[in-house]
Amino acid sequence: EGTAAGFRLEDLPVRDDLRGKAPYGAPQLEVPYALNTNENPYAPSEELAAALARGVADVARGLNRYPDRDATRLRAALAAYLDHDLDVREVWAANGSNEVLQQLLQVFGGAGRTAMGFEPSYSMHPIITEVTGTAWVGVPRTADFTIDLDAAKDAIARHRPDIVFLTSPNNPTGTALPLEVIREIAAVAPGMVVVDEAYAEFRREGTPSALSLLPDHPRLIVSRTMSKAFAMAGARLGYLAANPAVVDALQLVRLPYHLSAVSQIVALTALEFSDELLGAVKQLREERDALVAWLRDHGFTVADSDANFVMFGEFADRAAVWRGLLDHGVLIREVGPAGWLRVTVGTPEEMSAFRDALLRVTADPP
Ligand code: PMP
Repeated sequence: EGTAAGFRLEDLPVRDDLRGKAPYGAPQLEVPYALNTNENPYAPSEELAAALARGVADVARGLNRYPDRDATRLRAALAAYLDHDLDVREVWAANGSNEVLQQLLQVFGGAGRTAMGFEPSYSMHPIITEVTGTAWVGVPRTADFTIDLDAAKDAIARHRPDIVFLTSPNNPTGTALPLEVIREIAAVAPGMVVVDEAYAEFRREGTPSALSLLPDHPRLIVSRTMSKAFAMAGARLGYLAANPAVVDALQLVRLPYHLSAVSQIVALTALEFSDELLGAVKQLREERDALVAWLRDHGFTVADSDANFVMFGEFADRAAVWRGLLDHGVLIREVGPAGWLRVTVGTPEEMSAFRDALLRVTADPP
């Protein structure tokens, strides 16, 4: 037993299965152009900011009391927003979709259980899986980042996963899944199927949401977030739609009063501004399509994107390109398969800075 000085993480009796693990860590750097975490570049309007402040002032007078434990008004508003004839009992909300996913793992995963995902995909899926003591099975996607149905069915038959993650549109590739793939996987999966639709609102015309499958699939879950389309990443509000039995099951693990009264009123207020907020989404989708076309025109390989980010390459030394962009004040993300980089779609000004920096960096490799 030494002194507190020099005491390190390694000296603590941390759970054996957590030893040596690295935390999630997208860099949070102060840069002129932050295009690395798929945030929405458009801050709330003055009108929305004022409405948020009024809402918070109202609930401030009642903060001596616990919030509505069931977040009933908010869940009803989210159900109405999803526009699929959903009842409040079919919607659940938590602090970011990450917390929604963690609660799902706490209910349907755990020791002796398995979750499966199709990689490359969202890095938090395996992290949340393993932190809850669940085993992770990663199945590779095809060369064009879609899911091969036969390979998926084989892997499901072999591992009998308790949870299957389908991310659509997928992060970091931007790939959306055809409804048929989701339906076929749901038909053979022995447990729960979670469709992570964090980027749903950015889908291109004709790409469907899995919400329409819910009435026929009681073990299907669609998770969403207000972090992206609603430009509310700082508010931490994620939600899901599923059979009411799934929402009942989640009550077993959710902490009492997990969603603060402040979070609830902030999310409700943002939902009242959906029209305004979704208008900016349309602009971002157009900016995304223009970026994909520009990158292809300039000889880069680009994955089709239904999201608010674009994965492009391929670079012999992607770390050097990433660093070169950062030297020009542009922070993007070094994720995905070797040789690829991911850039978040920003404002026209941000995209112009990105394009200029990319041309400089790749014309004159560092
Ligand atoms: N799912 C996917 C696929 C994501 O990319 C993200 C955020 N990067 C999340 C879930 C989590 O978002 P949040 O917790 O902010 O809702």
